[in-house]
Amino acid sequence: MRCNNNLLNFLISVVALLMMGVIPAGSQTESRPHVIVIGVNGMEWDIIRPLLLKGELPNFAEVIQRGVYGKMRTLSAPNCPKVYSAIATSTPPEENGITGFVVGGKTASTDMLQREPLWSILSGHGVTVGMANVPATFPVMPLNGYMISGMLTRGKGCEDGILCSPKLSEVKGGAAVYPPSLVAELETNVGDFWIDCSRMPSAEELKGKEAEVIDHWLVQVSQVRAQQAKLFDYLLSHHRTDFTMLAQSCEDRVGHWLYPIQPYNAGYDPKLHSVRVDAFPSQYRAFDQVLGKILQYVDKNTYLFIISDHGIKPLREFEESRSLYRSVHDHGGNTPIIAKHDFEDGDDVPGSFIAIGPNIKKDVRLMGFTVSVFDIAPTILKLYGITQPTQMKGHVLSEIFEVPGPQTAERNAK
Ligand SMILES: [Zn+2]
Repeated sequence: MRCNNNLLNFLISVVALLMMGVIPAGSQTESRPHVIVIGVNGMEWDIIRPLLLKGELPNFAEVIQRGVYGKMRTLSAPNCPKVYSAIATSTPPEENGITGFVVGGKTASTDMLQREPLWSILSGHGVTVGMANVPATFPVMPLNGYMISGMLTRGKGCEDGILCSPKLSEVKGGAAVYPPSLVAELETNVGDFWIDCSRMPSAEELKGKEAEVIDHWLVQVSQVRAQQAKLFDYLLSHHRTDFTMLAQSCEDRVGHWLYPIQPYNAGYDPKLHSVRVDAFPSQYRAFDQVLGKILQYVDKNTYLFIISDHGIKPLREFEESRSLYRSVHDHGGNTPIIAKHDFEDGDDVPGSFIAIGPNIKKDVRLMGFTVSVFDIAPTILKLYGITQPTQMKGHVLSEIFEVPGPQTAERNAK
């Protein structure tokens, strides 16, 4: 409760400062570091590596050459709301309160968050913050800038907010945009857009017309991505903030049921899995184009982090045949999934970490689990000279910098 009171006091003070005009909404301060974080839901190196070798991800390849890259240790049985909340607070789910899609019988929401997240700490230190489509940020919270919610936003046709998406105009049960005045501006300049990726079709919907339903769904996914790319471009060009965090979810959603598996993999159905074997790899080709647009806003003084909350792998016979390990939280619903990420050992589906920026090492692969989801928030706070709060479990990633500078001088162990 103490934390909630602190959060409440903080939010009241931010709102008061905004009303007094002391904090400008969404304007970057030149003297502060410029940081952009892109979250890619379920980024899988097994799929990305062959595409890199074939030269099909030119922007991604450029970022890797310019920075450090590798795996990121995630949580046990990882899923988006759980891992993004651990990233934002640098605390485990049992401490921050967001233990999954559903908490205590209700869809996880920001008012359940028991530890102060990164965006709130940055705002409290006068850093301007922009957030768009980050999972588990609904209803949006006041902050020193703007926030557009992401996965778990509720609305028309998506009443529980789980693995579906309302359009901006269809949101119900809370605000999806802060400040409220930004809604009209986005409608005028970006148009109505889906907040998150589309719901996957059910086995019944697919039966007998597999190719048709798959193609129709993939068209929707392309539309979601195009809208999201337009939104990101608009925000980065018209609302430049010191710290910006943007996230995408369609890669994961496609991977769950269209992962290019082989006939001997669990769940293989030739009617479904021989039809569009390129659908999942194509998501990364599409992401690479979005990344190319974002790179236009990354100058030599900008830090860019590309992170994923977990990877995604085909189901395994030996686990799927035992009810103990059967997927119950991982999009298991009505869609015939063939890949997942809520494996009990999170090291089986590691996340990803790529970073470029001033003083960050170049073309360096991080071996093993140098980075964990808990290290993101402390490292970003350090870039702004903000001391890591004692509740944070991670450490500043001093190993990714060329020379230990003022921002990397200390390493706070667990
Ligand atoms: Zn997923």
